Amino acid sequence: MPERFERCERFDHFMARANAEYYATHDPYADFTTAPELTQVFGEILGAWARIVRQMLGSPENLILAEAGPGRGVLMADALRVFGPAQVHFIETSPRLRAEQALRVPNAIWCDSLEAVPAGPMILIANEFLDALPVRQFIRRSSGWMERFVADGGYVEQATEFPLPDDPENSVREINEPALAFVEQLARRGAIALLIDYGPLASAPGSSVQAIAQGKYANPLENPGSADLTAHVDFANLAAAATGAGADCQGPVKQNAFLTALGLPQRTDMLARKSPEMAENLRLAARRLTAPEAMGSLFKAMAICPKGFPPLPGFETL
Ligand code: SAH
Repeated sequence: MPERFERCERFDHFMARANAEYYATHDPYADFTTAPELTQVFGEILGAWARIVRQMLGSPENLILAEAGPGRGVLMADALRVFGPAQVHFIETSPRLRAEQALRVPNAIWCDSLEAVPAGPMILIANEFLDALPVRQFIRRSSGWMERFVADGGYVEQATEFPLPDDPENSVREINEPALAFVEQLARRGAIALLIDYGPLASAPGSSVQAIAQGKYANPLENPGSADLTAHVDFANLAAAATGAGADCQGPVKQNAFLTALGLPQRTDMLARKSPEMAENLRLAARRLTAPEAMGSLFKAMAICPKGFPPLPGFETL
């Protein structure tokens, strides 16, 4: 049984503990699915993306191919078929998922954090990683901004000096500090990073935290560790952090524009013709990834790169 959480915990601390427990004890894919789990074409075209980026970097011998939050390792296994042999670094904290990843990418090196990945030229991919990182939550009251804490399965509020926009009363704002630190670090390293996640193009107020347990929406404050907690990614805020740390950003673009520019439809058709028994599933998955009412529009792709870096594949038309 998980330890009972402390009586009053800042919301992001609560979310961090709940997710660490959840990812260490559950098979998340029993509760939700993700792009690489839907179709091998997703990982393959990201492998092709990374291959072109490696060329743009001048094919350095000591290149690090990294992935943050690799899940079951499916994306990387698919990507490597196109990318070719590479020294893969996985940033993953769940021992359970590390074991899954080792089945598919046996020669990877595992790290707990981006800091632990050795220095050197780096291409990093992260799909639905940032949305799992804990957010601080603030709510605007007549007296000013309050920060949300969790106590006995409910919210409690405490006045805060945290600088936030002047939103109407009862507005909620979320700040993802680990995600901001993550992109700042990528920027300082001069890494090329592809971040794919769900969230709006422009920062907006509102609570986006959701909990999924056993495939259904659940109360995020109930039974911590039994549900996957996620929050929308604030791409505009991350872009500002990356540029503030000296990097350039490309995008965000909607996932359907990005995947279509990289040839998802063509590769899907090619595979479907080669393996007719897979054709129906491949086409359904491609549609789910690109249809605006499914994952095509809410999901975005954004790249971080050194200042002045030429347009990366999928971002050329910006
Ligand atoms: N990219 C995968 C998995 C997404 S689920 C996919 O597309 O299917 C989120 C992943 O991030 C899991 O692998 C989870 O264990 C990992 N994760 C969550 N919080 C983390 C943290 N703080 N540090 C490293 N990995 C984390």
